[in-house]
Amino acid sequence: SAPRVFLDPQNDEAARLLDGIDTLILDCDGVLWTGSKTIAGAPEALQLLRDQGKRLRFVTNNSSKSRAQYVSKFRGLGIEADASEVMSSSYGAAAYLQSIGFGISLQPGKKVLLLGPEGVEHELALAGVPFVAARGLGLPIYDSPDAMLRMEVDTGIGAVVVGLRELPGCFLVATNTDDFDYIGGGRTMPGTGCIVAAVETASGSKAVNVGKGGPWLFPFLCSSLGLDPARTAVVGDRLDTDIALAREGGMLAILPLTGVATLDDALAAPPCKAPDAVVSSVAALAGL
Ligand code: PLP
Ligand code: CA
Repeated sequence: SAPRVFLDPQNDEAARLLDGIDTLILDCDGVLWTGSKTIAGAPEALQLLRDQGKRLRFVTNNSSKSRAQYVSKFRGLGIEADASEVMSSSYGAAAYLQSIGFGISLQPGKKVLLLGPEGVEHELALAGVPFVAARGLGLPIYDSPDAMLRMEVDTGIGAVVVGLRELPGCFLVATNTDDFDYIGGGRTMPGTGCIVAAVETASGSKAVNVGKGGPWLFPFLCSSLGLDPARTAVVGDRLDTDIALAREGGMLAILPLTGVATLDDALAAPPCKAPDAVVSSVAALAGL
């Protein structure tokens, strides 16, 4: 059915959406902040929701930071949060690899070649998953065939990405497959999905997406948080990740209009990506 739309600031009905909800899965970029700017009223809204006894979980597809680094970012924006409340896709990648026994029972002694940011490095290290970071190797700059060759000889791992077809049993893990990220000021940048698609094409392998929008996250959240989907709401600004996660899990799907998706997008969405409700912001959702 069509989403319920609550955009009238005089109408405090939006807050009634959360009656009977005890856990909120909150997307971060586009809901709590945009880039480095806090969304108006978000810190106060989170405090109010905590005061009402709601359990908050911050689930972001952005893998650039570890859970601990997110806590610092939250603090800097005036939001109190504990690392145990943060489910970043940097942690997702580490938790996924750990859960399949990578480097131990699966591909014993092997390492992950990480084409990803520092946040994932921290989480892999914490999880004890052995890795080599492309960042440290300067891998993105393939300025000559010779340089590539030296890379392989020097590390013994360069072949994992460029020669994956020759390495049966290797697989790809994507922290998300977002096509673009909204970075504020009306501007977007290419998302991780662009890199994932390039590496999939190069390797002939399909990546496992451990972020929102992929098949791994919902069962993991259920087992790690003991979620009751009927009492859980997902608040997020993307239809293909946040709202799809809510739909997949039978959770209440709430779209705030502070990020990527517009009201028109929501009204035109197919059922698997359509929100139950549209609110102007997370602040309005908290009744502010
Ligand atoms: N990945 C990157 C690099 C981003 O910049 C963003 C948002 O700006 C995301 C992922 C999506 O993050 P979220 O799930 O918090 O919206
Ligand atoms: Ca978002």
